[in-house]
Amino acid sequence: MKLRALIHASELITGAGVSQKDGRHITEEDLGAIPDGALVYSTKVVQGKTLPHKVIWTGKTSELPRRFAKIPKKNLRMKHSLIPGFVDCHTHLVFAGNRADEFAARCGGATYQQIAEKGGGILKTVRATREATEKQLEALAVERVKKSASYGVRTFEIKSGYGLDFETELKILSVIKRLKTRFPEYTFSSTFLGAHAFPPEQSREAYMREILEHMLPEVARKKLADCCDVFIDAGYYTLAEGRAILQKARALRLQTRMHADELANTESAALAAELGSLSADHLLRISDRSITKLAPSNTVAVLLPGTAFYLKAPHAPARKLIEAGACVALATDFNPGTCMCLSLPTIMTIAALYLGMSRAEILSAVTYSGAKALGLQSRKGSLEKGKDADFAVLPFSSFEEAYYRFAW
Ligand SMILES: [Zn+2]
Repeated sequence: MKLRALIHASELITGAGVSQKDGRHITEEDLGAIPDGALVYSTKVVQGKTLPHKVIWTGKTSELPRRFAKIPKKNLRMKHSLIPGFVDCHTHLVFAGNRADEFAARCGGATYQQIAEKGGGILKTVRATREATEKQLEALAVERVKKSASYGVRTFEIKSGYGLDFETELKILSVIKRLKTRFPEYTFSSTFLGAHAFPPEQSREAYMREILEHMLPEVARKKLADCCDVFIDAGYYTLAEGRAILQKARALRLQTRMHADELANTESAALAAELGSLSADHLLRISDRSITKLAPSNTVAVLLPGTAFYLKAPHAPARKLIEAGACVALATDFNPGTCMCLSLPTIMTIAALYLGMSRAEILSAVTYSGAKALGLQSRKGSLEKGKDADFAVLPFSSFEEAYYRFAW
């Protein structure tokens, strides 16, 4: 077993207390911040690359045990913060085309309805994604993964949902599968979101049958996704349709998550908790009743404040959720319509300013809680002995500089 070490990190944040408290009621002490910290990790070789494997030891550089005296060390010279790698637990990273024209029109006063009448909106992305080859989609996704990783993201969730037909949904999921081989240094969690909208060429009932009888069984058989997601909202899938899809997914041994209570309150967050979903995402309009159901459950409240910012919508009630004891994660929701932003640190800036989240709550939300939203919290989200050595070395001496500077 070959060992390596990082020494003299200006601040090492292990997040040990965050994982002990399951990401709930997080305070500064839970971060386990160590000034002048060091990390020892084992390595593994994957496809000829030597990659970090498991955390062996963390502590003060001055207390590094003698048995590690001879291992290769990288000196961070007190200029870099060393933290658990970020988890972006909600993205729509695989799509073709862009909707810059719509953004400009929307800012010029056009309504969503007017944009949709001109062939815009999600169906514009669906058309471009259907036309793109798997290779073209992969090339676009690869650049996006590199960009996101440059901010310290080590684990990505990526959804399908811009195909809305059997062939294209599977094409998108195949691209995500190829990313796993292409980037062995990162972790990808793949989500089937065939129920993102309704396709223009089929009736609602026919598309529901297509998802339940063809898409989901094939996705499960080919092991193309870890999870199934549904957009339950006013104008999209109803609570009953969402329940049917997620129950079928569970029967096929897929995990579940949902886009919940974004445009209207549908009590979908309460359904996520009832079904034992990994996460309920968005929650701009969540009711107090659903907060009571969601907060004590194992379903993570994933907040996506970049979307509210970009749509000039009211933000999710983050403080209420946190104070009720929910495990709250933050993610980009990177997508071409409502959040064209790959920078998780920029999302943290918005969370600090508009959700009123503290440094400790933000760190927890983009590490441990994000990992829990993907069911990966036993391996990822904190730097503790035996867990994956998924760390990020920030180009700043303290963690909060990552979101004090914005859009860097
Ligand atoms: Zn989304």
